[in-house]
Amino acid sequence: MDCPFCPSEDTRVVDSRLARAGRAIRRRRSCETCGERFTTYEVVEDVVPDVIKENGRTEPFNREKVLRSVRLPCQKRPVGIENLTAFVDRLEGQVAAMPGRTVKSRVIGDLILDYLRDQDAVAYVRYASVYRSFSSVDEFMDELKKLQDQKPTSPSNKPSDP
Ligand SMILES: [Zn+2]
Repeated sequence: MDCPFCPSEDTRVVDSRLARAGRAIRRRRSCETCGERFTTYEVVEDVVPDVIKENGRTEPFNREKVLRSVRLPCQKRPVGIENLTAFVDRLEGQVAAMPGRTVKSRVIGDLILDYLRDQDAVAYVRYASVYRSFSSVDEFMDELKKLQDQKPTSPSNKPSDP
């Protein structure tokens, strides 16, 4: 494995453990030349069904993309990143357990809605109000970013509200 920080190929594994609910191996590596550390993941290919988007296009399930799409509505809300990461792990497991080679993006969107509904009303409404009316996650995320850029949180959005 090449070092991402210098041209050296001389890196070694310093730690190795299961990750993503046992579906991946996380390796911590150290470069023998520059001493930098980095992390790699080993995952089984092609176990998670591909996602069919609303426009009919198919793309691989992308956990980073799902994580981004749940992080955005949770900004400045009391939902921690560990919680979100654990959810994405569970979601990936759920999707992997679904029969067939493909899954509709709407199915994933609905699972995200169920999760956010349990976590935080504001995050849920943010996600639902935008997600329901857009045809793709990308379009949705653009809109969500616009909303967030508009103005600071209004008084009714205070986290301290019951
Ligand atoms: Zn290096």
